[in-house]
Amino acid sequence: MTFEKNYDVAVIGGGPAGVAAAIAAGRMGVKTVLIEPNPFLGGAGTASMVGPWMTNYHQDTQVIRGVFQDIVDELVKHEGSTGTLKCPYDEPGNTQGTGGHITPFDGEILKYVLNKMVIEAGVDLLLNTYVDTVTSNNGKIESVSIKTKSSRSTLEAKVFIDCTGDGDIAVQAGAEFEFGRKQDGLSQPVTTMFRMSYVDIDRFIEYTDKNRNEFVWLTYPVLPDNLPDYFADKMVAVTGFNDLVAKGQQSGELNLGRERITIFSDFKKGDVLFNATRLNKVNALNNNELIQASLDLKEQVMSLTKFARKYLPGFEKAVLSGASSHVGVRETRRIIGDYVLTQEDVLRGRKFDDGIAKGCFPVDIHSPTDKKNVWVELDDAYDIPYRCLLPVGLENTLIAGRCISATHEALASARVQSHSMAQGQAAGVAAALSAQQGVTTREVSVRELQSYLRQQDAIVAGDLEVSR
Ligand SMILES: Cc1cc2nc3c(=O)[nH]c(=O)nc-3n(C[C@H](O)[C@H](O)[C@H](O)COP(=O)(O)OP(=O)(O)OC[C@H]3O[C@@H](n4cnc5c(N)ncnc54)[C@H](O)[C@@H]3O)c2cc1C
Repeated sequence: MTFEKNYDVAVIGGGPAGVAAAIAAGRMGVKTVLIEPNPFLGGAGTASMVGPWMTNYHQDTQVIRGVFQDIVDELVKHEGSTGTLKCPYDEPGNTQGTGGHITPFDGEILKYVLNKMVIEAGVDLLLNTYVDTVTSNNGKIESVSIKTKSSRSTLEAKVFIDCTGDGDIAVQAGAEFEFGRKQDGLSQPVTTMFRMSYVDIDRFIEYTDKNRNEFVWLTYPVLPDNLPDYFADKMVAVTGFNDLVAKGQQSGELNLGRERITIFSDFKKGDVLFNATRLNKVNALNNNELIQASLDLKEQVMSLTKFARKYLPGFEKAVLSGASSHVGVRETRRIIGDYVLTQEDVLRGRKFDDGIAKGCFPVDIHSPTDKKNVWVELDDAYDIPYRCLLPVGLENTLIAGRCISATHEALASARVQSHSMAQGQAAGVAAALSAQQGVTTREVSVRELQSYLRQQDAIVAGDLEVSR
């Protein structure tokens, strides 16, 4: 693969937001580069083993499609996903833990699929490449200096999309940001996800079914009939074991930062993913704190693995088969944009004329100070305004993913991977239009942007109101 010095669009960060941005820009026919420090794409979904993808539906209406759906379809072709699954609950309107639908995926197959789709979209893919310094003038990024094992160079682009999750690029160009919640500046905790294999899943499911009152929430995702016969025929997503956890923590047998254990069984039979470890008050922008968090969270992984084998039904012969290489970071900087999405917008399902993506995941706040969680259902799907992707004071830079312009509470919905992809796709199309037309990102016609997004099968403001 060859690389140029000049691009129309440079996307920085190859997580869910960046991948969707690059694919969308590439499909618009502009010269696009995607820069990612890892040797693979997928961001938290691969490097931090974060899955399944949380809901792209509000109740039974699909509200996120476009590049997200294209990736899911490609994964299914390669046996890397079951497709999106409905998650029924006993109590209607309570979708705790999933939002009502999940899309499980295989991280290794995802890495393959993302490489393939990015390259098929005509994007130059710079892996193993870190963006070092940003050179900007009067709110315009002129170039970024990039560093690899074998080289240092400078790359120019007409438009830059910051999909680093942390807003590294926008901040260097002068964007303002907030960190953490209003009252004390604390952000959501960090977590190391891990997987156990050789779980007797039938036995575990039977136990959950017979002891439903032990769990805070419980759902058995509905699998399609036509899956390969080596896929699981039953799945479970569950959180609970609170009494067991409390006893283990009191006796010192269990080292865990949460009051309960959340488990998603996989479509690969016998594999389960734990979203269970937690460390509070970590500033994930500080490398020393990240290193310490990684060490501390690995202690929790080891402790919970042994604990699960001893106490969880069906786990007697299970083994640890993977843990995230990067600590899972839920929240760092939120860049201040022309509009700041609020909790009220999200909860009330507010609509905006400049809506370029939809959101539907409930507000899910892992407490920054203790072992608890807050979960609040939404009245309806909400629109994410284009203005949330426009950092105040910058004219050729867009943001997408977990650094968008939103409050701590609103981001607790808008950050999930399906939503990050929808925002990324919008940023990619907007950047392409800005580059093609020689206008600033703020001058891009929102109507035209929405129309191109619809051509790419995305769902934008007003679409659902028409089709419902
Ligand atoms: C523990 C945990 C559990 C979660 N649970 C779920 C879940 O179950 N389902 C769900 O859908 N979402 C979940 N999320 C949320 C979701 O994973 C993230 O919010 C989402 O991945 C954000 O996407 P992103 O593309 O903005 O950022 P990221 O996924 O963080 O990707 C950012 C990318 O930018 C790259 N990068 C960073 N800095 C630079 C730089 N300076 N130069 C170049 N590249 C850079 C990184 O290497 C990375 O690849 C969870 C998150 C965590 C941490």
